[in-house]
Amino acid sequence: MKLLILNLIAVFCAFFPSTTGSNTHSSPSAPGRKPKNIILLIGDGMGLAQVSAGQYAHQKALNLDKFPVTGLSRTQSAKHLITDSAAGATAFSCGCKTINTYIGMDAKQKPCKTILEQALDKGLAVGLVAACSITHATPASFIAHVNDRAETEQIAKFFVDTQADLLIGGGMKYFNQRKTDQRNLATEMTQKGAVISDFSRQTLSDIQPDPKYPFVWFSAEGEPPAAAKGRDYLPVAARLAPAFLKQRSEKGFFMMLEGSQIDWACHDKNGPREISEMLDFDQAIGAILDFAAQDGETLVIVTADHETGGMTLEQGSSSDSIAINFNTNYHTASMVPVYAFGPGAELFNGMYENTEIYYRMRALFGWGE
Ligand code: MG
Ligand code: ZN
Repeated sequence: MKLLILNLIAVFCAFFPSTTGSNTHSSPSAPGRKPKNIILLIGDGMGLAQVSAGQYAHQKALNLDKFPVTGLSRTQSAKHLITDSAAGATAFSCGCKTINTYIGMDAKQKPCKTILEQALDKGLAVGLVAACSITHATPASFIAHVNDRAETEQIAKFFVDTQADLLIGGGMKYFNQRKTDQRNLATEMTQKGAVISDFSRQTLSDIQPDPKYPFVWFSAEGEPPAAAKGRDYLPVAARLAPAFLKQRSEKGFFMMLEGSQIDWACHDKNGPREISEMLDFDQAIGAILDFAAQDGETLVIVTADHETGGMTLEQGSSSDSIAINFNTNYHTASMVPVYAFGPGAELFNGMYENTEIYYRMRALFGWGE
């Protein structure tokens, strides 16, 4: 099987700028129909126990249950079995196993050209949506290139240099109240043509962004609250973003949306919060599936960067009261699920390295090496 062979060689990295030249990876040929648009949904920390808890608590089918194709992804980073979210997201954005804390950099500290940057170069519209600050490791890994994920003000500059068509997430203070320089990056983005709004002016559901301009909505000064504490914009963004991006380019779009705080709930060993974050993410998934089913040209992939918490559902659980235990307050090396829907979904069957998700998305966009 060709895909199985690819699993073995996928640990090699696509060094910038060789994503368009030769490297040790050969992409899978994309069978069947190819998607015009790809939406990658990342549940940070979302292992099988996190999904299972959501399923039992919901007491009916999740939107995740509708996906016709499932796979398993191995998540280890370049030097550690236990990845962090920076290396985990860079595996998806660049096809690169890298060092923990690296954002859009390969293991040799070279910037790797991300799938979002490649999509922009090819004239596609691109968007990032997160339930955390937009400069946080997962979204940042699609647009920024730094060794240290904690350099949030440094990361914010990349959002000005690379103007995405749509940005929705927190972290406004890293743009307009900067400590490391006097720049106001929000003003700079406006001067470059973006329309910016934020949580203090308008709720997202009240906004109809004009597709003539890039659109940015900041959901918080820093980190947005938990879903259980009133954060409700992720499903709204999931409904708005694909329809908006579709109007931004006739060539298609690439978008990443993150259910960011599943991970945080599990770091905090908080089972009920994990469930509410999982169900919030699943609502966003439902909105995306509605779009994709109607559009017919959109591939939707849902996966996780890693599992968090070594979470287990314990004896004595019922769907009304799930006994959840956490074995660690950090990430684990367990495989995580991959779900796919739409043209090319069948490519995500099986078991593979997380970097394969990048290569298979590229192959399906028709950007084979
Ligand atoms: Mg994250
Ligand atoms: Zn984490």
